[in-house]
Amino acid sequence: MGGNLHFGYFDNPDDELTTATCRLIDKMLEYCSINGKSKILDVGCGIGGPALYIHERYKCHITGISTSRRGVDLANNASRQKGFDSSVNFIVADGQKNGLPDKSYDVVWVMESSHMMNKEELFNECFRVLKKGGTMVLCDILLRQPLSFFQEVYLFFKNARDLVASYKTWGLKAVNSTGFYCNGLIKAGFKEIQVLDVSKNAIHTMRHWEKNALSHLGKNIEGPSFGEKDISRFITACRATERFFNEGYLGYTIIKAVKE
Ligand code: SAH
Repeated sequence: MGGNLHFGYFDNPDDELTTATCRLIDKMLEYCSINGKSKILDVGCGIGGPALYIHERYKCHITGISTSRRGVDLANNASRQKGFDSSVNFIVADGQKNGLPDKSYDVVWVMESSHMMNKEELFNECFRVLKKGGTMVLCDILLRQPLSFFQEVYLFFKNARDLVASYKTWGLKAVNSTGFYCNGLIKAGFKEIQVLDVSKNAIHTMRHWEKNALSHLGKNIEGPSFGEKDISRFITACRATERFFNEGYLGYTIIKAVKE
């Protein structure tokens, strides 16, 4: 997947993956105004790619949180290697109950991690820790339309194998519709909600990840318990996700909301 554990924003399908994943960060940055004095909270920080990129550009204060100890350790190591000081730090914390102080951040950044969380808890926490006038910006895989219970059952049986591979690969806990997100944000107290559907630019990510994965088949992979079976499942998940996008079920969305 490269250093960024999120989709790319492709102007052309053949753009370099790293160029596209950085461009998605840039697209989100267009929704918030950050300067050297800004305090940012990155919820679901992965291995630190976006936070380090943002700090490099603005020299702002940024804290990344994740429930993965390994991710947090890798992010802190990467930050040290770049020679960054303690204005960039990564800690283990849950975005649904983060334990951070009220009204202390200018921007809360939620990049492709919301699908792993309960939205009500996540949005309440984002709202609580934001300063007045602060911005939350989020991107993720969303359902393009809500599904009825019967549609869900039908789709589950029709796509069982692909869905299981996708759940196991992406850790899809709660993929919800754009409307569900907007309602949740309003309920949490947010205003000025803006939504940008970037599905057409994001979908090419699947081809790039699949190509990367194929290039690793048959090689010895470093790291704990990650073998041929996992790579095959990853490829199945990439193909399935691309199909779900093309069939109009899934999309990729950027959402901005303000705490007035
Ligand atoms: N934002 C990063 C990583 C996205 S992958 C990037 O764009 O590169 C999703 C991340 O969310 C992972 O780091 C995962 O550990 C984290 N995560 C999952 N559930 C979480 C939770 N409840 N609270 C905080 N982080 C969580």
